[in-house]
Amino acid sequence: MSAINQSGWRPEMTPERRSNEATFTGNRALMLEEALIFEIGSLDTTGVDFAEAPKAASRLGGLERHKDIGLPGLSEPEAVRHYTRLSRQNYAIDLGLFPLGSCTMKHNPRLNERMARLPGFADVHPLQPVDTVQGAFEVIHQLAHWLVTLTGMHSVAMSPKAGAHGELCGVLAIRAALDAKGQQSRKVLLVPESAHGTNPATAAFAGFSVEDIPATEAGRVDLEALKARLGPDVAGVMITNPNTCGLFEPDMKAISDAVHAAGGYVYCDGANFNAIVGRVRPGDLGIDAMHINLHKTFSTPHGGGGPGSGPVVLSAALAPYAPLPFVEEQDGKFILIEEETAGEHHADSFGRMVSFHGQMGMFTRALTYILSHGADGLRQVAEDSVLNANYVLRSLEDVLDAPFANSGPCMHEAIFSDKGLPEGFSTLDIAKGLIDEGFHPMTVYFPLVVHGAMLVEPTETESKAALDQFIGACRSVAERAKAGDAALKSAPHFAPRRRLDETQAARKPVLVWKEPAQAEAAE
Ligand SMILES: *Cc1c(COP(=O)(O)O)cnc(C)c1O
Repeated sequence: MSAINQSGWRPEMTPERRSNEATFTGNRALMLEEALIFEIGSLDTTGVDFAEAPKAASRLGGLERHKDIGLPGLSEPEAVRHYTRLSRQNYAIDLGLFPLGSCTMKHNPRLNERMARLPGFADVHPLQPVDTVQGAFEVIHQLAHWLVTLTGMHSVAMSPKAGAHGELCGVLAIRAALDAKGQQSRKVLLVPESAHGTNPATAAFAGFSVEDIPATEAGRVDLEALKARLGPDVAGVMITNPNTCGLFEPDMKAISDAVHAAGGYVYCDGANFNAIVGRVRPGDLGIDAMHINLHKTFSTPHGGGGPGSGPVVLSAALAPYAPLPFVEEQDGKFILIEEETAGEHHADSFGRMVSFHGQMGMFTRALTYILSHGADGLRQVAEDSVLNANYVLRSLEDVLDAPFANSGPCMHEAIFSDKGLPEGFSTLDIAKGLIDEGFHPMTVYFPLVVHGAMLVEPTETESKAALDQFIGACRSVAERAKAGDAALKSAPHFAPRRRLDETQAARKPVLVWKEPAQAEAAE
């Protein structure tokens, strides 16, 4: 075990830090320092007594382990405190406003959780006989019905596990449709400059080559440039609408018409569906495939890249290529179609994306959310989210540059740039200053089309009082930057850690704990 004592004093607390800003323990009032789990506790004081095992001949052929396996040795209260302390260093939607643009960090209603935990949903197994899980299939079927109705599309593939996975599903359906027409030579997917990074990544992963579509001054897709690029090598486009600048693409129908006329397909990134749910049906805009992030629009929890769900709605043209499985209703019973049958069921399906039927817990939560709002409530979700974003936009445009403020109202998110910040101050300083104010920063430096972008998505779940407090914090930090307050350059001052070397952390993450002696020897 390491030399760290029970108080959780951390080795990286340098003497200067201690004298300037730290306490003996490293704790600050109720904000408690916490060492790694391997650095606390001791195997000498914890464990379980087993009777001596009877001697038996080993059948491991000399492969028995003789060394400790290196598990941390914590008593129950130590373990409970460790994880509770760590949990207090998290920022969460249940703690405060989470303004991350593009992520739709809305409240996760407790009713959803309640429903998802009902034993009839939580305890079913995907390999159970079909007639014992009729209720679960009905949930999938009803949710599918809502998604198809809300989007005005032909059908939906429920199984993809995230937005990005849904993109892959849609793009593979496009590939399958083109291949079925003998158009293997269509290999280019056009993607706007402002696209989420997952769009070009998905296209490349599926074997397409990616080409940029430029944006206009007003932050929209340049329709003329797009039309000029269409041709026999183009498989289609991937367009986010509303886009990542928080703007609706008013030319969407014209874009779809042009792409279809040139023999391509239209993928819409539906991550921002929250802004238009109940107001606009993507099917009416000529879209062929669109993923829906249930953890964005339909309030299911976001969680470290999962457990996610990204159903993909499809046009009649792409539906035949959708992945299996499907739940279908036949004579008042729900059945699961797991295999393609020639000339009958989904004969042209491009295959399967997941081992079972999709993320049941998320389906149950999303359907609960939909049913508890109803069609009129969902429409109000969209309207209120747009209203809240415009309130933020108009309340901050005098202290932060708002590049598209003259292009009319924004949709669900407001975008600002670093223009007008004094020499030496950057978007990063604004973001770090917000941490001291007790807010998770907004999305920064994305989308790339806006210099030093700050993308704020308040969602409809925030009250005016909460928005006013956030706006006040943003104004204060922006004004400090404008006044040249040097302390902002080293913010956050009140967080458990100061500025981290984020590039180093991303490029060379230290993922394995080593005993301090070993770590020193390695250096
Ligand atoms: C969130 C998001 C995605 C990716 O969705 P995941 O569910 O995180 O995989 C794709 N595009 C946009 C615009 C997004 O906001």
